[in-house]
Amino acid sequence: MIEHDTIIIGAGTVGAAIAYGLVRLGSKVLLLDGAKTDFRAARANFGLVWGQGKGCGMPPYQRLTRQSIDLWADFSAELQDHAGGAALNYEQKGGLVFCLGEKAFERRIVLNSKLSEQLRDFDNLDQTPDTEMLERAELQSLMPNLRLGPEVVGASYGRRDGHVNPLRLLAMLHAAVMRLGGKLRGEHSVTAIRREAGIFVVETARGDFRAARIVIATGIAVGKLARQVGLDIPIKAQRGQILVTERVGPLLPLPCSGLRQTAEGTIMIGATHEDVGENSSTTTEASIALASKAVKIAPDLASLRLVRQWSGLRIMSPDGFPVYVESEEFPGAFVATCHSGVTLAAVHARKIAASIAAGKLSPDVLPFSHRRFHLNAAA
Ligand SMILES: Cc1cc2nc3c(=O)[nH]c(=O)nc-3n(C[C@H](O)[C@H](O)[C@H](O)COP(=O)(O)OP(=O)(O)OC[C@H]3O[C@@H](n4cnc5c(N)ncnc54)[C@H](O)[C@@H]3O)c2cc1C
Repeated sequence: MIEHDTIIIGAGTVGAAIAYGLVRLGSKVLLLDGAKTDFRAARANFGLVWGQGKGCGMPPYQRLTRQSIDLWADFSAELQDHAGGAALNYEQKGGLVFCLGEKAFERRIVLNSKLSEQLRDFDNLDQTPDTEMLERAELQSLMPNLRLGPEVVGASYGRRDGHVNPLRLLAMLHAAVMRLGGKLRGEHSVTAIRREAGIFVVETARGDFRAARIVIATGIAVGKLARQVGLDIPIKAQRGQILVTERVGPLLPLPCSGLRQTAEGTIMIGATHEDVGENSSTTTEASIALASKAVKIAPDLASLRLVRQWSGLRIMSPDGFPVYVESEEFPGAFVATCHSGVTLAAVHARKIAASIAAGKLSPDVLPFSHRRFHLNAAA
């Protein structure tokens, strides 16, 4: 007899959301996490639940992101209950991308209309666009406490966008998994996966575990374990550095791409996009670049004290879009990885978890197979 229906390997935001979704459906789940020294994007991110600007060239991703955002309010309310009542601080009042200069404003108009047309053609629905452009005066009246710098021409407003406390999200997913009867084991790095008589045996230095199904969600380390179930998933790291200011009174009524005020009052400034491999150092160059851009947007931020700087590694597939796939060689072994695990947490907990519980990914998730990279390379 096996003790677990599903073992999820990797308890970051992706693995924990899928594990939560499965226990919510009554599955017996074991969630195994790695070492404290592993790279952990879930503990380094910006906290945006964000759709605007995403998915150009990949309409299924644009739709998946939108589906997730549309589930977020219900998902967060239910998660708060299941996790014991703490607040996630999820807010959905829309979000802004500032445009510095006329050219940036025009480029944004083009991107927004392209994305809007792409989704309309894909879904065959004439829907209200998710975004609108705000001229400087309108933008300034939306944020009366923040004096805009002279280069700010306007902003793109995404009505579905929002933000959340990402560390609480992770902690509450873990809490909910355990409260609903799942098991979470930290410091259980999986070293090997094998199959015996149709059952997966997952090896760790602290013992072997067995389940009918497994989900590999080990973030940046996904490639190594995926190969053991016959999947070749190319993933590379992209470093993102973030600055945090001291706490201040309300300045930013909405989250912005690159600036967001937390519920506690700190302002997060970020994040860089650096191709430096698996290197999570922080650098002075990044802090100068981030601070300079923030001050161009809002000159008064220059008077705030910076209290923290950190860096994390984004988990990037070759086209930047998620990978969800089941192994053909080892049916029952799934891989889930993406670079927007906070935004997609709701869809991971609901749709992806339901697919895994049913033993088959739903047809609309099939475009996210890693085979797209190998087909593109062969063409
Ligand atoms: C700077 C930055 C900003 C970001 N901002 C946003 C944002 O605003 N909004 C958004 O939606 N997303 C954002 N993200 C992305 C988001 O943080 C990730 O998508 C999310 O954390 C999910 O990551 P994950 O669970 O796949 O990986 P991780 O969080 O890295 O978790 C992987 C887990 O797997 C474990 N592990 C590794 N190897 C093994 C093994 N062999 N056995 C067992 N366990 C193992 C590790 O210990 C780790 O806990 C940002 C990321 C960065 C770096």
